[in-house]
Amino acid sequence: MKLHHHTLFSLTIAGVLYVMFTSWKLALGSFITGIFIDVDHIVDVVREHGWSVKVREFFHICHTAQFNRILLLLHGWEWLVIWTFAAWLTDWNPWITGSLIGLGHHMVLDAYANSENVSSYSLLWRWKKDFHFDTIFPKFIRFKYRESTYFPTARGSNDQRGH
Ligand SMILES: [Zn+2]
Repeated sequence: MKLHHHTLFSLTIAGVLYVMFTSWKLALGSFITGIFIDVDHIVDVVREHGWSVKVREFFHICHTAQFNRILLLLHGWEWLVIWTFAAWLTDWNPWITGSLIGLGHHMVLDAYANSENVSSYSLLWRWKKDFHFDTIFPKFIRFKYRESTYFPTARGSNDQRGH
């Protein structure tokens, strides 16, 4: 899911949380996390394309799925389990609970928009699949190879398969 969608959802949910619980900490925690867990894309882009990628290029790489492997370190159902435990341990501290809500809605939206398999957003499952992008996100294969200027060989082999 794209950045502006996450921003819109995060803003709406933060507004609802503020109205329901009158806690700006809870609302802000949710708003920030709901958008910024996508910073983990930076790790994947740099790992695959190096440090010289410009901002425009960065978004192009992400939107056209130019990845051989994908870590997505912050996108994991496992974090939700750990973070729920952390919120419970801190007696539902508003920052931790807010960030739990932000993480939760971000993950649900991504899982809904980006994959037919909820396991795609499990860190352990991705690890088991050796973080291989095409195996984890098959829905993106057609965008990836149609747009690709980064993987000419992959594109060639794709053409041979007649897709
Ligand atoms: Zn995301």
